[in-house]
Amino acid sequence: MDIRIGQGYDVHALAAGLPMWLCGVQVPSETGFVAHSDGDVAIHALCDALLGALALGDIGHHFPDTSQEWKGVDSKILLRKVCSLVAERGYSVSNVDITIALQAPKIGYLVPEMRECLAGVMGVDVSRVSVKATTTEKLGFVGRGEGCEVWAVALLKQ
Ligand code: MG
Repeated sequence: MDIRIGQGYDVHALAAGLPMWLCGVQVPSETGFVAHSDGDVAIHALCDALLGALALGDIGHHFPDTSQEWKGVDSKILLRKVCSLVAERGYSVSNVDITIALQAPKIGYLVPEMRECLAGVMGVDVSRVSVKATTTEKLGFVGRGEGCEVWAVALLKQ
């Protein structure tokens, strides 16, 4: 059996009046993410972890933000496409783990829904999908409410 690990990282800036999508779930919020796509920074980090595990480049390579095709795109579509690339190479997702750093709003109550959503898109059992949320204790750009930072790791098996 071949085992591959990948890690992903993404940041999006916050601005008033924009939608906030995280892990495929719309978060009730007065601020949202500045982005070419729907700005789902968590799915973007997850896609980079999955791509990284197979050395397939990054999300910007596969879905360039200069392309009109991906303007406003639902990031779940991007995740589905990345999962297809993984499956085409004979790999399946063993597990993924995502950490979201966001000062506000609080999102912990949405974690079960986020896990269900990602598991559904990836076609894996929800027990293989971990989502964690933290603040940065008001430190740094996340703490000042200027943006959201996400780390993801993925383990694939062939
Ligand atoms: Mg992004």
